[in-house]
Amino acid sequence: MSRTAVVTGAGSGIGRAIAHALAQRDWRVVVTDLDGDAAESVATALPHQDAGHESAALDVTSADAASAVAADVASRLGLHAWVSNAGISFMHRFLDAPVERYEQTMAVNLKGVFVCGQAAAREMVRTGVAGAIVNTASMAGKQGRVPFLSDYVASKFGVVGLTQAMAYELGEHGITVNCVCPGFVETPMQSRELEWEAELRGTTADGVRDMMIADTPLGRLEQPEDVARAVAFLVSEDARFITGEALAVNGGAYMD
Ligand code: NAP
Repeated sequence: MSRTAVVTGAGSGIGRAIAHALAQRDWRVVVTDLDGDAAESVATALPHQDAGHESAALDVTSADAASAVAADVASRLGLHAWVSNAGISFMHRFLDAPVERYEQTMAVNLKGVFVCGQAAAREMVRTGVAGAIVNTASMAGKQGRVPFLSDYVASKFGVVGLTQAMAYELGEHGITVNCVCPGFVETPMQSRELEWEAELRGTTADGVRDMMIADTPLGRLEQPEDVARAVAFLVSEDARFITGEALAVNGGAYMD
């Protein structure tokens, strides 16, 4: 019988790749996204359709919605892993950054990880499952030397700290909690950031892309699959004694 994983923000980019990587490794995946149609089209394209993949619309900023998805999955299918991946970004100079953007970023990137992790952990404890929770942080969760993303940096440092606090308290239930810290990943989020950064620096999107590659010792843009493989490891039995970790998956773009 398949184990079941829920992935948030999985209608696009890294989340979609995580859903694929887990499905390839015999997980049943519940693909969730703000955009329920996007989630559904990802779910129906996953490998091993006989595993019974599902999709649901889920806005991660809603604690009630996260609890409902977690309870439904735990009761019907068993909840063995939860990947809090949804995230957003905006680029502004710190001096110009609107506080409304800060609030939006924190709501999705940090509150979303808090409420989803709490919902998942409550169900794992209720059903006696020693599951795994993985959060998508960022290399911007380990260093603030990142241009034009001050609110995002604050949210991702928060995710790294929250991951440790969750791991500390949930250890007694056998639940592991880790995060991944990707670098320059080629996704729709990156496409938006290339345009914003080019405008803020007075250069071109290609010029910014070249800077990202030059900053990456492995010499290419990161692919969503690079992150997904690390997440698949963290929810696997191979990672059973790893908890509270913030795993750099960035081609060497930031080493700590
Ligand atoms: P993406 O392609 O924009 O995908 C993010 C997904 O999250 C989208 O499907 C988006 O839906 C969804 N989403 C946005 N707000 C949501 C909400 N309130 N509830 C549920 N889903 C929501 O971005 P990505 O690059 O794959 O990013 C995935 C994660 O990786 C994020 O946490 C991001 O911060 C992190 N990350 C990305 C990079 C990078 O270089 N790309 C680097 C480090 C970390 P809509 O499209 O409908 O808005």
